[in-house]
Amino acid sequence: MKHADVIVVGAGPAGCAAAWDLAHAGLDVLLLDRKAFPRTKPCAGGLTVKALLRLRYSVAPVIQRVISEIEVTRNGGRVSRFRARAPMVAMTVRRELDAYCLDQTLAKGARLLLAEAADVAQDAEGVSLTTAKGETLRARWLVGADGANSRVRRLIGMAPGERALALEGHVPIPATGAPHLRFDFERVRGGYGWIFPKADHLNVGLYTQAPGVTFGKSDLVAYAREAAGAETVEDMVGYPLGIGGAGYAPPPGRVLLAGDAAGMAERLLGEGLHNAIKSGQTAAAAILAAEAEADPVRAHRRALRPIQADLHACNAGAGWLYSGHPLGWMAMISPPGKSALSRGFAAGMTLAEILPTSPFALAYPVADLGGRLPAQA
Ligand SMILES: Cc1cc2nc3c(=O)[nH]c(=O)nc-3n(C[C@H](O)[C@H](O)[C@H](O)COP(=O)(O)OP(=O)(O)OC[C@H]3O[C@@H](n4cnc5c(N)ncnc54)[C@H](O)[C@@H]3O)c2cc1C
Repeated sequence: MKHADVIVVGAGPAGCAAAWDLAHAGLDVLLLDRKAFPRTKPCAGGLTVKALLRLRYSVAPVIQRVISEIEVTRNGGRVSRFRARAPMVAMTVRRELDAYCLDQTLAKGARLLLAEAADVAQDAEGVSLTTAKGETLRARWLVGADGANSRVRRLIGMAPGERALALEGHVPIPATGAPHLRFDFERVRGGYGWIFPKADHLNVGLYTQAPGVTFGKSDLVAYAREAAGAETVEDMVGYPLGIGGAGYAPPPGRVLLAGDAAGMAERLLGEGLHNAIKSGQTAAAAILAAEAEADPVRAHRRALRPIQADLHACNAGAGWLYSGHPLGWMAMISPPGKSALSRGFAAGMTLAEILPTSPFALAYPVADLGGRLPAQA
């Protein structure tokens, strides 16, 4: 039987963030993933400034583009532009980003095991995990960071979380050059279509957070043709996002959830990377508090509060934006709204931090991103 202080299931952004902090603190961490890296993960790979600032290391080597202008439309109407004097989003490709973050985490001292978690059992002293091949692993704590379809979540008896849905694909960059990053709100009900420009292709996709709304590949092909002039769309794949984490109450025990497994993607835009990183770090902090004799569940609940405040703010934003009522949209694209959002995103602020001051926030500081973006940005 293999032993460790902590087993982390899932080597995506949440799992790597947890494992990095735990290994940094000197704990013996066994990081499990069922897929060998580099592996693909359906995701548009947009890393906001707040996400870049949460990471313990620069991911500049895998940033393909830096975005400081975003176009948005609603119901096919007029284009509004969000501009900042500083970067708002960094474009990555998850295959590269995740492999890079995993390398950083292994360099910190975490151990990697290529295996699928099949069963989890807790007792007073620790957690036993059985892999799909029947191997048993044992640790004092386990972090379930196994994504929106989390098996760990099911195995500890939690009901499946709320989900959003996204479908993405790749199209060539037009001969006229890469377009701006773009959101076409209400291209699908309760969501949007997106175009994210990468180094050698555009990532196009459809997102909805509205229950019961579905779309298919033909919808994405139609959107890509309309918005990016693309004839065909390659690598189309749909995947759920774990949302609903504003109400996540960590259950007592030795298993902590992080990232999409805990519903930490926000509902408004489906941004999941920032909270995956943050909630992975939060789970690690709770375990470190527990190792120092504090109450881990209380520590975890307390540390989750800022994340959940932001998830509430995003829920409210989604309520305004997707309700069909024009006021939310008008507030967003009004000059003070655009200014507050652009500057706030460039400053690495969360929506919960931006909203209270938004009509007056004309003077947000710009984040000090020294070393976190590629040299040419
Ligand atoms: C199409 C799409 C586009 C998106 N675009 C963006 C974006 O641009 N920006 C953004 O911020 N967010 C985006 N998101 C959301 C983002 O992808 C997720 O929120 C984020 O990946 C969550 O990270 P995670 O670490 O919790 O889970 P994941 O990234 O899903 O990682 C989970 C890991 O667990 C492993 N695993 C799963 N089950 C097991 C098991 N039983 N045993 C062992 N290993 C297991 C998987 O192989 C995987 O490596 C998008 C989502 C989708 C679907």
